[in-house]
Amino acid sequence: MNIILFGPPGAGKGTQSKYLVNKLNAFQISTGELLREEINKKSAIGMAIKNDMNNGNFVSDEIVNKLIKNLVFDPQKKDKLIFDGYPRTLSQARNLNLLLETSNQKIDLILFLNVDKETIIKRIEKRKMIEKRHDDESSTILKRYDTYMKTTQPVLNFYSENPNFKEINGSLEIDEITRKIDTFLNV
Ligand code: AMP
Repeated sequence: MNIILFGPPGAGKGTQSKYLVNKLNAFQISTGELLREEINKKSAIGMAIKNDMNNGNFVSDEIVNKLIKNLVFDPQKKDKLIFDGYPRTLSQARNLNLLLETSNQKIDLILFLNVDKETIIKRIEKRKMIEKRHDDESSTILKRYDTYMKTTQPVLNFYSENPNFKEINGSLEIDEITRKIDTFLNV
């Protein structure tokens, strides 16, 4: 099964991705993680994206599309892809469709974790106490939420036509969200 987890920062995509990875013996593709790795490695990509990431801006489609390409084509990961934080723009969504088509795959489930701004701010404030991420400063959180809302609406429209699109109330407790996700898995 290939699954897309969709939702604003702090919606619980990472937590639910990890659940799905264990349950389905699948692979998480978190573009946020991949980008943070590039920064830590101080690679050319890392240097190019550092400012945008720290300011809560999106990284260019070109860079993100390049990072996921080999993962989609990896035969070991075929039909076991859990996308966390990708696609986030219409161009990324179209690119993903193309990559999947070319590698003879499809999206089986699109989970939209819908959550209001207040809940997100509270969650990220809590996460800040556990792990230190440069882009978790309060002003950046709001910027990231606004960027998300502005840029991802067309992606939402693009996928909401798909019969495999499922909206879940992301303000629920983690376990409740997991239970809802379970009802959509035909395993
Ligand atoms: P995340 O860990 O998914 O919350 O992502 C952290 C940051 O990485 C975002 O605020 C963006 O700056 C960048 N990022 C992650 N995924 C993408 C993507 N698909 N497109 C553009 N930027 C991304």
